[in-house]
Amino acid sequence: MRKKSIPYGKHNIDSSDIKNVVKTLRTDWITQGPKIAEFEKAIAHFSGAKYGVAVSNGTAALHAAVFAAGIGPGDEVIVPPITFVATVNSIVYQGGKPIFVDVDPETLLLNPKLVEQKITSRTKAILAVDYAGQPCDYDQLQKIAGRRLTLISDACHSLGARYKNKKVGTLADLTAFSFHPVKHITTGEGGMVVTSNPNFVQRMIKFRNHGLSLDNQERVKKKTWRYSMQELGYNYRITDFQCALGISQLKKLPTWLKRRNEIARTYDGHFKKLQDIQPLKTLPHVRHAYHLYVIRLKTDRSGISRDDLFSFFRKKNVLVNVHYLPVHLQPFYRTRFKTKEGMCPIAEQVATEILSLPMYPSMTKREILYVVNTMKDAIQK
Ligand SMILES: *Cc1c(COP(=O)(O)O)cnc(C)c1O
Repeated sequence: MRKKSIPYGKHNIDSSDIKNVVKTLRTDWITQGPKIAEFEKAIAHFSGAKYGVAVSNGTAALHAAVFAAGIGPGDEVIVPPITFVATVNSIVYQGGKPIFVDVDPETLLLNPKLVEQKITSRTKAILAVDYAGQPCDYDQLQKIAGRRLTLISDACHSLGARYKNKKVGTLADLTAFSFHPVKHITTGEGGMVVTSNPNFVQRMIKFRNHGLSLDNQERVKKKTWRYSMQELGYNYRITDFQCALGISQLKKLPTWLKRRNEIARTYDGHFKKLQDIQPLKTLPHVRHAYHLYVIRLKTDRSGISRDDLFSFFRKKNVLVNVHYLPVHLQPFYRTRFKTKEGMCPIAEQVATEILSLPMYPSMTKREILYVVNTMKDAIQK
């Protein structure tokens, strides 16, 4: 048995990252300075969008996107249940009503056919989630959204992914990223919304700074102390030294994405021989970013349950995880929005079968094999 545990995800900080952070710490601007715009430009460019607005975390990015889309009390927003609670919470922060729509069982991505059936006159937006790192069916979602609805992408799993050779920042009206350590690149905590619509940018720049009309740098430039607050905003700012880390991390992302795909291919190869283990489907027109590597356990054959499998891995010091318990089954949502079992039957069923295996660029061959062999041991017991 391994002494050192294998996590399901892990960040990667090297000496050049540290050097860049320290360099920024020695300047006059450790927050609200020039590194923020530099990071915004770099991520926008990388993801194919015109603009980026950096914020303090991925949840704040989603909240800013929902704000920019003009979601208010009573507005309905279509969202899948298989996601982190933050996706849906961001709708509720603005008083919106989440409308849970079921997912495709093979990809766990929002099913466009079911989306269409849930559109009403109160629908304002679709908030799609690129689960595990694979973009949703954006051609269909864009068609459904048309000009009336705003299409928002929770791309916290899919930085660097592509759909029909289009970059992930170009597929929706607003796209949110997270830079939490478990994601593709990190700023400690951090997030960003990318968009090609300058009106959204203006709204989000105010939103992340209390709703104030002019930020500190603009007031200096315009030689004024005056500002006004027209809408409620928050302090969702990110610091310059975090952005310095992000800029430094981004340089390594292409290599890391390749490595994530290599690890996925290795897992795929081994699990092809295991009848009970079914990796989620990767669509042919997609470049997967593999934030997560998720398998479904077909319990009918092996007789072992997902929770048994989870415990077996944990006992062997492999820190597998489950992403996610369907959000509509969380007590808060049951109480506030009267959601319940049966509303999204596919998500509810598949959620009992899924397990996320370790996936991070610095994973060694030995670690991958240890995970594979642990899986074999578990299902042959
Ligand atoms: C990580 C994540 C978030 C939230 O990001 P934070 O930076 O942790 O706030 C939102 N949605 C999804 C799908 C995520 O994976």
